[in-house]
Amino acid sequence: MTGVRDIHHFIGGAASPSASGRLGDVFDPNTGRVQARVGLGTADELAKAVAVAKAAQVEWAAVNPQRRARVMFEFKRLVEARIDELAHLLSSEHGKVIADSKGDIQRGLEVIEFACGAPHLLKGDYTNNAGPGIDVYSMRQPLGVVAGITPFNFPAMIPMWMFGMALVCGNAFILKPSERDPSVPVRLAELMLEAGLPAGVMNVVQGDKTVVDAILDHPDIRAVSFVGSSDIAHYIYERGNAAGKRVQAMGGAKNHAIVLPDADFDQTVADLVGAAFGSAGERCMALPVVVPVGDKTADMLLDRLLPEIGKLRIGVSTDPDAHYGPVVTAAHKARIESYIDMGVREGAELLVDGRGFTLQGHEGGFFVGPTLFDRVTPAMQSYREEIFGPVLQMVRAPDMETALKLPSEHQYGNGVAIFTRNGGVARDFAHAVNVGMVGINVPIPVPVAYHSFGGWKRSGFGDLDQYGEDSIRFYTKAKKVTQRWPSGGPVTDSAFIIPTLK
Ligand code: NAD
Repeated sequence: MTGVRDIHHFIGGAASPSASGRLGDVFDPNTGRVQARVGLGTADELAKAVAVAKAAQVEWAAVNPQRRARVMFEFKRLVEARIDELAHLLSSEHGKVIADSKGDIQRGLEVIEFACGAPHLLKGDYTNNAGPGIDVYSMRQPLGVVAGITPFNFPAMIPMWMFGMALVCGNAFILKPSERDPSVPVRLAELMLEAGLPAGVMNVVQGDKTVVDAILDHPDIRAVSFVGSSDIAHYIYERGNAAGKRVQAMGGAKNHAIVLPDADFDQTVADLVGAAFGSAGERCMALPVVVPVGDKTADMLLDRLLPEIGKLRIGVSTDPDAHYGPVVTAAHKARIESYIDMGVREGAELLVDGRGFTLQGHEGGFFVGPTLFDRVTPAMQSYREEIFGPVLQMVRAPDMETALKLPSEHQYGNGVAIFTRNGGVARDFAHAVNVGMVGINVPIPVPVAYHSFGGWKRSGFGDLDQYGEDSIRFYTKAKKVTQRWPSGGPVTDSAFIIPTLK
């Protein structure tokens, strides 16, 4: 094929082609054409990257935290200087519009900013005179070689959630990005090298299940951070744990927006349309379910929602006026459309049908029109499962009790939002709802970088969340030291019972 790029591993500070002979197609979702091929790695190639990382980690861990943080400062500067180039590359493989790709990069950089504070975050605790002449202190030490396995939908932000914190803590990092849009992760690793990270400390190994399984089984990889769909997250969690690794595995989502009759309807509709259809719904914090409380609220919402959906502009990812672009692959487009078929079969009321949408001049592109269903019920499979496309499902709730139950009893528990002017109701809802991240009149409540990100139930396996202080705990192990120095005093008697404070 002419004009098709090759995408390689990045190991030991240099591009490293896979010898597997297995290639993954990377599409331009705007046209449907294959624009690049990524070499899918082998277990041996992964093992080579781990050996390089293991050797490089020893010196990197000995670099003082302030100098490690300076690499993060420089990386941030380099990424900011190249944000246009990176955003275009990201959009060309993912399909999201350029402004949204910049947001993807920017939200990742916010975690890098947090990583710049590592010297403070890595300070241990100290207690003077915890016993007679005894001090106790703790220190945080890196784990060694750690790995990140990331999804297609945020090819800049999610790798940065992981490698920024892992590296600044003194670990070496192996990134296995999504094979759908693997170019930006390689560019980020190159920029880390340019920022001063020693070669071999960060490596990118391209691939699919073969590399993932090799990561899970490799004895020198001490921790695995995963973000992707729930069945795979669960698999990663179980297999990684069985191999004795620390694992955090974030999964899929089906986030609900609860709308009360006293909500600010104009703002709520604006927020809903952006959160349901932005990035073609390919966000784990999208709002694909709206739950109006009371039929009157549902009807008022629909009156405002329908014209706004009618105004949505779907375009190629470089169109500055497009609200959203194509979805990532033809297979994903077909999957989304099959869920719309399912919703119709299940008896939901299809008010706006996005199936069969084509963009003039881009007939081969993977576009899906906005879709709206009313009268969706919790028993429907199309409600219970994640669609991950520009499809908004309305589930009418007769009362607040039902509205609380829906997200609380759903298999996913990533995010939820409530729209109301009633502070008391919102407060009670935030307290009671069985979901990890809550927005009150905030449609996509992704916590800022100095808090942590993580959902509940099948949206997150493992105890520690992404970024924020949880990531310091995830990427380090705490050593506790109890010390006493000879003071020339009398010898204390042997203790045959556990020492206690008298
Ligand atoms: P995915 O699960 O298909 O892929 C994620 C990663 O797992 C990729 O690197 C992929 O190569 C690898 N993988 C795929 N199949 C595998 C298998 N059988 N064995 C081992 N590894 C495998 O997810 P995706 O389609 O790339 O991303 C979309 C999903 O990610 C959605 O479900 C979305 O909700 C979820 N997501 C969750 C969060 C979160 O923080 N909870 C954030 C973003 C995306």
